[in-house]
Amino acid sequence: MTTDKDTYHFDTRAIHAGQEPEPVTGAVMTPIFATSTYKQRSPGDHTGFEYARSQNPTRFAFEKCVADLEGGSKAFAFASGLSAGATVLELLESGSHLVAVDDMYGGSWRLFEAVRKRSANLQVSYVNPDITENIESQITDQTQMIWIETPSNPLLKITDLKYISKLAKSKNIITVVDNTFCSPYIQRPLESGIDIVVHSVTKYINGHSDMVGGAVITKNPQISEALEFLQNAVGAILDPFPSFLALRGVKTLPLRMHQHCVNAEKIAHWLDQHPKVEKTIYPGLGSHPQHDLARTQMNGFYGAMISVYLKTDMAGVRRALEKTKIFTLAESLGGVESLISHPVTMSHGSVPKERRDQLKISDNLIRLSVGVESVDDLLRDLDTSFGNI
Ligand SMILES: *Cc1c(COP(=O)(O)O)cnc(C)c1O
Repeated sequence: MTTDKDTYHFDTRAIHAGQEPEPVTGAVMTPIFATSTYKQRSPGDHTGFEYARSQNPTRFAFEKCVADLEGGSKAFAFASGLSAGATVLELLESGSHLVAVDDMYGGSWRLFEAVRKRSANLQVSYVNPDITENIESQITDQTQMIWIETPSNPLLKITDLKYISKLAKSKNIITVVDNTFCSPYIQRPLESGIDIVVHSVTKYINGHSDMVGGAVITKNPQISEALEFLQNAVGAILDPFPSFLALRGVKTLPLRMHQHCVNAEKIAHWLDQHPKVEKTIYPGLGSHPQHDLARTQMNGFYGAMISVYLKTDMAGVRRALEKTKIFTLAESLGGVESLISHPVTMSHGSVPKERRDQLKISDNLIRLSVGVESVDDLLRDLDTSFGNI
C-alpha cells in the first residue's frame, strides 16, 4: 500500500507507510535483506541497489515510514541516535557556532563538548529555553544551527517551536529538534517549520528496548540531499536487522504512546500529592511553567517522562530505587516497560558536577519512563518503594 499523507490517518500510516508486500513471494512483512551487495546484470546496469551501505530495502522501508509519520519528505536511519546527531553536525563547516538548550541528553552534550569542540572547532552556547528570548540573545553572525530538545532531558523544559523556526528562518539558521521524548505521535516539529528532526529510535519509535538506532527526517530538499550524501559518506547506517525491529515496533506507536501518556498523566498527578515528593516536573501539571505551550505543541498529550525531586538524600534515593519491582532501575526510556533512573549517576554521569548543580540535576532527582503496564500496579509499586525513603 502506497500511503498518502493527506488521506490516511496517522494510525494507518504507522502500520503501512513505506511498505509493500515483497514482490517475489508476496510476504506481507518486509523481509530482512541480509546482504552486503547486489548482482549487476552488466557493468553499471543494476536494479538501483548496488551496495548495502548505500541501499538496503529493509532500511528503506523503515526510513519511508518514519519520514511519513514526521511529515517529512525523506528520512535517514542510523546505527544509533548519537550517530544520527553526529551526522547532522557534519552539515556544518568547521568552526561553526551552534546554540543549544542547556538541559539536554547527556550523550549529545558529550558529543558537542568532548568530541566536536576538538575535532571540528564547534562553538556552542547553551541557553535556558524557559524564556524563549534567551535563545535569540545567544545568536551571532556565526550561528549556523539551533539544537532543541523539547521536552528537555531530564528537566522537561519546553521550547516554543514555532517561535524558534520563525526566528531561525529570518537569519538563515538551520533548526534541529531532537524529538525522541515525544515521537511523531505527539509532536511533529517539521509542521512548525523546523528543518530537521532527530530521533533515538532506540526509545519510543521502536518501543520495545530491543535495539539501538537513530533517524533524521527533513522536508527541505537541500538538507535532504546533503544528508543523503553524508549518511553514505560517513556510513553510520542502521543495519537491516534492527531496521526490521524498528519497522515492527513503529506499527504500534499510536497504541503505545496513547497508553504511555494516559498512564503518565495519572502518575504525575499522584506524585504531585505524595508526602515523600518535594516537586514533580511534568508538562501536564498546571504547575509546569510552560503547561499551556506544551498543551498546544504536543497534540493534547504531555509525554510519559516524569522527573521527581524526592524529599530525601542520596541514601534515601538509593533505598527507594533498590526496592521497585515493576519499575526497572535502568538507563534509557520509551519501552513498553516502566523504567526508573537516577540522572546524576546514570544518563548525566558524563556531565560535570558543577554544571549539574547549575542545572539543578541533584542527587534527589529521579526520572520515570512510564510504561504501558496497568497504572494501578505502577502506582502501588512507587508507593511501596517510596515507603523505604
Ligand atoms: C537516548 C537518547 C539519545 C541518544 O540515542 P542512542 O540511540 O542512545 O544513541 C539522544 N537524544 C535523546 C533525547 C535520547 O533520549
